[in-house]
Amino acid sequence: MKKTIMLALALCLVGAVAFAQSGDTKYGEPMTVEGITPLTDILESPEMYVGKEVRTAGYIYTMCDDAGCWLGVLPSVGADKVVKVAYSHTDVRFPIGEETTGHYVELQGEVVTVEQEAEEHAEHMAAEGEAHEYAEEAEHTEHATEMRTVYACPMHADVVSEDAGTCPVCKMDLEAAEIPVPAPASIAIMGASAVVKAKK
Ligand SMILES: [Zn+2]
Repeated sequence: MKKTIMLALALCLVGAVAFAQSGDTKYGEPMTVEGITPLTDILESPEMYVGKEVRTAGYIYTMCDDAGCWLGVLPSVGADKVVKVAYSHTDVRFPIGEETTGHYVELQGEVVTVEQEAEEHAEHMAAEGEAHEYAEEAEHTEHATEMRTVYACPMHADVVSEDAGTCPVCKMDLEAAEIPVPAPASIAIMGASAVVKAKK
């Protein structure tokens, strides 16, 4: 009997380790939408997607630093627009820190306009009695003349990384490049679920 319990425990441990090694962290409900719509498609033709539930993906750029109620996601690392993915309308929370910056994330949620999202966010904050001024936040992110550093391959324009390193294609050292801080996109996503992928 004891042996059986020990074996079960050992198997659980193996299972836990295997899960940790896969490195994907899931939040919220399992995804139900088939097929990924690129975030660039949604940004190019927002009118086609507003009000629809989509599954999309991008790279984590920034996040709510206290309650885990939103993520800022870029369609690509060097993109000039950042999409807010909000969770404040659900019980889903993203207790993740800056170490996930640059991680690939798959998302499912409803595409809304930023105005709709701001309204929901203000209602949520008022309901929780938090002195959390969304307007201040928005004002801060609109100062998009600031620059930030990314690392790019001198030979391959599409190879851009948050971290220094070498190009996966030609193995050349990536060079530091200054690009504008991305401006907020005109749409947001009211997120229902997400899978944060481990960095390769
Ligand atoms: Zn290269």
